[in-house]
Amino acid sequence: MGGLFDLVFPPRCAGCDHPGTLWCDTCRAALPLIDPGMACARCGAPLRDAGHPCVECHGRVFAFSAARCAARLEPPASRAVVALKDGGERRYAGVLAELLAASAEGWLASGDVLVPAPASPAAVRRRGFDHAADIARSLAALTGNPTARLLRATASADQRALGREERFANRAGVFALESGVCMPVSVVLVDDVFTTGATSDAAARVLREAGAAEVRVLAVARAVQRPGSA
Ligand SMILES: [Zn+2]
Ligand SMILES: [Zn+2]
Repeated sequence: MGGLFDLVFPPRCAGCDHPGTLWCDTCRAALPLIDPGMACARCGAPLRDAGHPCVECHGRVFAFSAARCAARLEPPASRAVVALKDGGERRYAGVLAELLAASAEGWLASGDVLVPAPASPAAVRRRGFDHAADIARSLAALTGNPTARLLRATASADQRALGREERFANRAGVFALESGVCMPVSVVLVDDVFTTGATSDAAARVLREAGAAEVRVLAVARAVQRPGSA
């Protein structure tokens, strides 16, 4: 896009509303990026110090083998996610894909197939598009990886209203395979937000059961548990 579209719908910075750009230099520099060298390899959460086990995924069993998240779910990164999902500003798919590409450098292999984590049919109807599919497509254009829609959401549940344990219980059966898919060996699930890993775990479970040897997760933003929260 760009050109005439930008002229008719001038972009504004997701962080500070500054006109003329989707990210101003100040907000870009203020992105709460996660250093992969200081993050949990299993769940992508930033570690307070590298010697200690991850408090976010301790005791959890995931069907995916690794996760990487580009930034913490805090402004201005979180505002760009909201602009895409709730503001319908699809130009942010490309912006967020750039964050993913930078974060996944050296982690993403050329044979990894990028699979968008599907949104519920109700959410796609409400937004008019599938935001994770947009991000995966933009990422594939940047990295040259193949992308495939292997999953569909079968039911909708508002995860935001649920506690952490409920989220795990609630996700079982939410995803199903698209019909007639050819399962790749190595799948990287692409999503916007990683909270408990429940959604990614449910999706990865379906892919593994259908023959994917390895599923990893690449998410734009990592929501981390506040000390003392459930
Ligand atoms: Zn800004
Ligand atoms: Zn972890």
